Amino acid sequence: MQEYKEAIKQFYDYCKKEKYHNIGYPENADFDYSELKDFLDFSLNNVGDPFKDSTYKLNSLKFEKEVLEFFMDLFKISREDGWGYVTTGGTEGNLYGVYVARELYPDSILYYSEDAHYSVDKIARILRMDKIKINSLSNGEIDYNDLKINLEENKEKVPIIFANIGTTMKGAIDNLDKINQVLDELSITKKYIHCDAALSGMILPFFPEENLNFAKGLDSVAISGHKFIGSPIPCGIVITKKDYVNRISKEIDYIKTIDNTITGSRNGLTPLILWSAINKLKEDGFYELSFNCIQKADYFYKKLNDAGINAWRNKNSITIFFENPSQELCKKWCLASNDKIAHVITTPHVSYKRLNTLIEEICNGVEK
Ligand SMILES: *Cc1c(COP(=O)(O)O)cnc(C)c1O
Repeated sequence: MQEYKEAIKQFYDYCKKEKYHNIGYPENADFDYSELKDFLDFSLNNVGDPFKDSTYKLNSLKFEKEVLEFFMDLFKISREDGWGYVTTGGTEGNLYGVYVARELYPDSILYYSEDAHYSVDKIARILRMDKIKINSLSNGEIDYNDLKINLEENKEKVPIIFANIGTTMKGAIDNLDKINQVLDELSITKKYIHCDAALSGMILPFFPEENLNFAKGLDSVAISGHKFIGSPIPCGIVITKKDYVNRISKEIDYIKTIDNTITGSRNGLTPLILWSAINKLKEDGFYELSFNCIQKADYFYKKLNDAGINAWRNKNSITIFFENPSQELCKKWCLASNDKIAHVITTPHVSYKRLNTLIEEICNGVEK
């Protein structure tokens, strides 16, 4: 028993020490859900369709529905037309969006840029889909010309476009207006656009000029819950159109619900976590949080450039990428990097003080 307690204590101390360490992964570590602690006493399970009653009593479907309604409002799809569920994270949301698309259009091709998240390759394999990888521009956006060339060559198949709304490495946004323009120029009317908005899906909707919503012709969107919002358990949200989902749903007799989610049993705690975050901050609070993080990103970006380091940042993004970081630096600061660039993500817990120290070390070498 002593050993058991010691192992747990050691791990707790480790977590506490490392809590704010992350500066290269898009996770908000600043959260407090202590009011939900007591729910660990229950086997919560949101099996089935969040908008249908379940025979499983210990569910938090009421809270899940309200979370989904918040996101439907945010992405401007009506509650009559929208549908969605709380997922295990961005990847499941992407899988779901692409799965719905493929069910609607079996004879299709999945298009995505070389800067898309690694989950998309796997998703194409799971769903056994034809896929085409499109070149990216240097800022990480999809190359619209290359997209057009490939769409034109494959006009007999329905395009399923996997658009990046904030790429992992560079925070780049594939412009939906430009994608729609390409589709229009080729007179393609049958198509499906899924948006991978893992991180930026909780930032861009608060900046109306970005116009990221269903009116722009998107068909589904996936957002991570543990990224910008922050959660002790990975989770996410996927929103799509009710009409699409109705066409692929199955009624399951013994649980008296509809099977239209990827997993059967679903987490009942994460919808409560998201509900709590949403109701504490509300839209105004999230706007302020996003705005502060963007200002912080701008500060870091300018400081780096002032110091003579080549650094870039896409508009309304909290991801700053810069050239030639040392291995030592990346290791010490847990920065995601490839051989050319590394990035820093100014999530809410990243302080100006830490950014200043990091800039010093980027310029002068790592302090031992
Ligand atoms: C993190 C991320 C994902 C995957 O999200 P998970 O929640 O880790 O499954 C997908 N796309 C992008 C752009 C991401 O940054």
